[in-house]
Amino acid sequence: MAARPMPYLDDLNPAQREAVERLDGPVLMLAGAGTGKTKALTSRIVHLLMTGRARPNEILSVTFTNKAAREMKTRVGRLLGQQIEGMPWLGTFHSICVKLLRRHAELVGLKSNFTILDTDDQIRLLKQLINAAGIDEKRWPARQLAGLIDHWKNRAWVPSKVPSAEAGAYNHRGTELYAQYQTRLRELNACDFGDLLLHMVTIFQEHPDVLEQYQRWFRYILVDEYQDTNVAQYLWLRLLAGGHKNICCVGDDDQSIYGWRGAEVGNILRFEKDFPGAHVVRLEQNYRSTEHILAAAGGVIRGNEGRLGKELWTDAKGGEKVRLIGHWDGEEEARWIGDEIEALQKGSRGIEAQSLDDMAILVRASHQMRAFEDRFLTIGLNYRVIGGPRFYERMEIRDAMAYFRLVVSPEDDLAFERIVNTPKRGLGDKAQQLIQATAREFGVTLIEGARIAVDEGRIKGKGGGQLRQLCEGLARWREQMLGPVVHASDIIDDAGDEVIDDEAPFVVGETRRGPPEMSHMELAEVILDESGYTGMWQNDKTPEAPGRLENLKELVKALEQFENLQGFLEHVSLIMDNESDEAGEKVSIMTLHAAKGLEFPVVFLPGWEDGLFPSQRSMDESGQKGLEEERRLAYVGITRAERLCTISFAGNRRVFGQWQSALPSRFIDELPEEHVDVLTPPGLYGGGYGAAAQYGQSGLESRASEANVYNSPGWKRLQARSGQRGMSQPKESRNTVIDLQAVSAFETGQRVFHQKFGYGTIRAIEGDKLEVDFEKAGSKKVVASYVHAEDD
Ligand code: ATP
Ligand code: MG
Repeated sequence: MAARPMPYLDDLNPAQREAVERLDGPVLMLAGAGTGKTKALTSRIVHLLMTGRARPNEILSVTFTNKAAREMKTRVGRLLGQQIEGMPWLGTFHSICVKLLRRHAELVGLKSNFTILDTDDQIRLLKQLINAAGIDEKRWPARQLAGLIDHWKNRAWVPSKVPSAEAGAYNHRGTELYAQYQTRLRELNACDFGDLLLHMVTIFQEHPDVLEQYQRWFRYILVDEYQDTNVAQYLWLRLLAGGHKNICCVGDDDQSIYGWRGAEVGNILRFEKDFPGAHVVRLEQNYRSTEHILAAAGGVIRGNEGRLGKELWTDAKGGEKVRLIGHWDGEEEARWIGDEIEALQKGSRGIEAQSLDDMAILVRASHQMRAFEDRFLTIGLNYRVIGGPRFYERMEIRDAMAYFRLVVSPEDDLAFERIVNTPKRGLGDKAQQLIQATAREFGVTLIEGARIAVDEGRIKGKGGGQLRQLCEGLARWREQMLGPVVHASDIIDDAGDEVIDDEAPFVVGETRRGPPEMSHMELAEVILDESGYTGMWQNDKTPEAPGRLENLKELVKALEQFENLQGFLEHVSLIMDNESDEAGEKVSIMTLHAAKGLEFPVVFLPGWEDGLFPSQRSMDESGQKGLEEERRLAYVGITRAERLCTISFAGNRRVFGQWQSALPSRFIDELPEEHVDVLTPPGLYGGGYGAAAQYGQSGLESRASEANVYNSPGWKRLQARSGQRGMSQPKESRNTVIDLQAVSAFETGQRVFHQKFGYGTIRAIEGDKLEVDFEKAGSKKVVASYVHAEDD
């Protein structure tokens, strides 16, 4: 073979080079974060191509996300110095299996044009089967069955292979329904997500000729993030590699974070048994992070038992210590991080100016994103949410807001269309068309149209009954929002006589309202409960459901900063208006799970509180096992950072309008002191308390929750450690409400201009919100940062 230059090998250390050059036989690269596993894997692909061992379409290369696959293709292209004309088999397990299954669909009773069901279709199908089996779907929800079937498919169990130990699941009918479901899918020429792998494993097991064909075709197999493969994926790989055994897997047992989805870290440990003579490469030099960051991550992960145990080192000595800071509450945390990001952009904090693209906020739970999004929108900091929609674009948030919109303005027909059959009320397309037709016929809103359609018996039966309930609910919630009607005769004095108010006498036909009996937060909860919307997600057994419920709680929390529902809805429509997809630098916000494999110079890790991180569920349900997975997640988080890593927690979080004090995460205790800088929380004095006051917290409440937080063992430990530098006891003075008007650039009576509403005069100022009497648009509450003084 003609010697060709191989500059890509020069960038590798000896251990990486070994993993790249040892092309034949099984190779397992087992190494900690940032040691260049993915880099070595990419170089290996290049090496296979450059040495002529394989053509691009003979390499099977599995990554964890489509994003990672795209990135790897780009990197291979760059190393090769040319565009590769396609690596059709570089992708995720699912994307590769779809292609294979289309070729061999007939072997499992499907046609090659089979459809892939989404979750909704899947649930609908299961419901039909459950009803047909005479099972009460309310007690045994379809979503629960869907979760169970998914769990079995992840373990590569076809219905006949589900072990008897599991047969008791779903009221002893699970496996029977699973079998019926698979039959029905075949009749529909369809499969679900889990089938993609399961069918391929079945095909390979039952048709050795097909398997052999692919064993020959895929001359080399490479797998990234191997620690997160589930049993079905593992079997699939083992079958494919069974001939030549040219398989190279890279992974890190300390980064296994998908156990809840059926991933088995044990697969790594089995590798050497399944592939005797496997060559194991260990990498220990970390090229990503500074010494302090690495030591902090190492300190945390050391708490896990049963690790393979790897020590990492780095040449990047010195640098900034990991920063730790406690805040008053979650809003204050978001405010502080926003300020820090702006400071880092300008080049302070000991490192040169950073681009927004180089900074990331990694959260444990997606509901944490809301506070950051709100804050960044307010201060005009560009951000992107990776791996999911922005908070106010999420399905459950839009649904809930549609209910609120309808209560505030019953003529909002779009909102009505959105929620009329969410949750399911037995109102199909036909019923919905009838409502539309009735509304048109009478020239009324859809709500009115619906009411008439029910009254006149146009929509009958169960659907009709539920529709009536919805209309009554909407009317009732609106009344509750407006407050009780006050009649002239209601105004009586102590002696029981009617009081005539001379200054504002009642006129005939006038309706006056007294103060509402519940706050708008309480009302929001009532609406979501009574409409059945919260219940819909409570009964939902998919893995996403708990997160959606958390987001709904977070939505109610966001309401507290506003005087009423209307003010809140306006705020959201304003910030949605200001959204832009324009290119340019952006801070990334994502979950820790979505951050796997990525790296950023600057990383913020907020919300390190027991119950949030580690999550309450992990602590309750699976004991030590759950806690260890959370700890790995902490390790993944810290090791994403290259230069600066900041961990934070809040002393108080609001849950459904209640202050709850939180303890700093137990993982904080595990951070090695000498690598951590405890910062002074500015929020503890002035700003933070001002914020709390602004959000309507009473002094009494705040003192009560302070007492809890500052007496908590976690806080005391932290205080002892920080040597009184940062975490001091709050002073009495903190309970002085700051005059927020003084800090505002505006004053009442001032004439201002707003992009959307035009000119107006400020009537009142509350924190960063202004109540403005607009000359054309009437009185509105707007965010101060969208308003200019008239002469600006
Ligand atoms: P993770 O476990 O987080 O997925 P990883 O082991 O896959 O990490 P990579 O992402 O491949 O690590 O590499 C981490 C960083 O170190 C990258 O920026 C990469 O370019 C750099 N790097 C890797 N190997 C070397 C090397 N030999 N010399 C210089 N830089 C390297
Ligand atoms: Mg990697």
